[in-house]
Amino acid sequence: MTDSTGTEENKPHGNLAGRILFGLLVGAVAGSLLNWKFAPAAGAAASPEYERVRWFADNVASPVGQVFLRMLFMVVVPLVFCSLFLGVSGLGDLRKLGKIGARTLAWFGITTGLAVVLGLVLMNTFEPGKKIDRAKAEEIRKEFKGEADKKVEAAKEGTGFGISTFVNIVPKNVVRSAADDRDTLGLIFFALILGAAATAFAPERIKPFVDVCQILYDLCVKVLGYAMKLAPYGVAGLVFNVTAKLGIDVLVALGYYVLVAMFGLALHQYLVLGLLARWFGGWPIADFFRRIKVLTVTAFSTSSSNATLPTTINTAVNEFNVPKPIAGFVLPLGATMNMNGTALFEGAVVLFLAQVAGIELSLGSQAVVVCLAVLTAIGAAGVPGGSLPLLALVLTQVGIPADMLALILGVDRLVDMARTVPNVTSDLVCAMWVAKKERAEKT
Ligand code: ASP
Repeated sequence: MTDSTGTEENKPHGNLAGRILFGLLVGAVAGSLLNWKFAPAAGAAASPEYERVRWFADNVASPVGQVFLRMLFMVVVPLVFCSLFLGVSGLGDLRKLGKIGARTLAWFGITTGLAVVLGLVLMNTFEPGKKIDRAKAEEIRKEFKGEADKKVEAAKEGTGFGISTFVNIVPKNVVRSAADDRDTLGLIFFALILGAAATAFAPERIKPFVDVCQILYDLCVKVLGYAMKLAPYGVAGLVFNVTAKLGIDVLVALGYYVLVAMFGLALHQYLVLGLLARWFGGWPIADFFRRIKVLTVTAFSTSSSNATLPTTINTAVNEFNVPKPIAGFVLPLGATMNMNGTALFEGAVVLFLAQVAGIELSLGSQAVVVCLAVLTAIGAAGVPGGSLPLLALVLTQVGIPADMLALILGVDRLVDMARTVPNVTSDLVCAMWVAKKERAEKT
């Protein structure tokens, strides 16, 4: 299990959140003002001043942003591998735990899937990415795509929904899968099956390898923490680059995106999980939410499922009478593997960015997004921004340039705080349900 509580990254980040927001504002205001003042009218030649603004955006702002992004992307392969391997191999006692393990996994899979579908439905309905007019979308597409046409072509091959979609999940060469950012499913498959194989061995036999994976995972999380320290500057650079070239319209669309994403997260938290707590946990909705106030605030302020884990366990045991062994099994696993809010957010972002870039995602591609969002939400680290590197993978997989992530990074802190709340709440309701079932079966 990948509980790395106690590391510096897991302490509340109030200050960092403020600085990221400040970076966003500085980048956005400076970029939009310069764009508004100097950008040429459509078809006109650029003034020397505007050339200088572009030079600064290309040679100073964008590189700073790229370093930040690359710090995130750099840890993807080890993080995905270790997180999934540890999650699955940690179920070694699944056979002993029998129904508890199976129920827990079923809960994780079903609620995470529900969340992605909700995110996709909302984005398809409100279409915040289409609030940008076609010409602007085309400009953004050109600006961010670069390699994109190639990627779209490649993604068409990879995501055309058919028998090959399933065959290709099994990698021919796992090293090549790890090196190819369009073939992460291969890496994910390998990590899952290796984890499953590990459960067939005596724990002492595989412990050294598990320890190595755990250490590597913790190191990656630490590096992710360093990357987040760069976030205020990276975000300022990225947002400046975007607004200086494209103007403020982009930010207006971003506002819609945040609204729709937050609405979806609130809906999942207060309606879906509230009802599940009622039906499966056996708790009245109002009382349930009253009892999880501290949990909600902790998750919201730390943006980290790992950092919230002790509070989740306390809440389960003290407020909902979940037996300690059940809480001890379900909740740490949930902090690592079960991320409803993250999955909803991933689905929403993919669709939003596709809309911005003017890429139509077919129903088949959206089904691929659902599967990928569920899998990568399982693989995401329960730390602030833990899902961002994996999100890049989902994007490239469906033909959206990963660089477009830059668009949402500036506002991601807020969405991160909001998505961590359903992440931990779903873990809690799962523990309540498993405990209720156990009690019913014993009597
Ligand atoms: N911050 C989230 C969590 O810890 C992960 C993410 O979505 O970035 O649950």
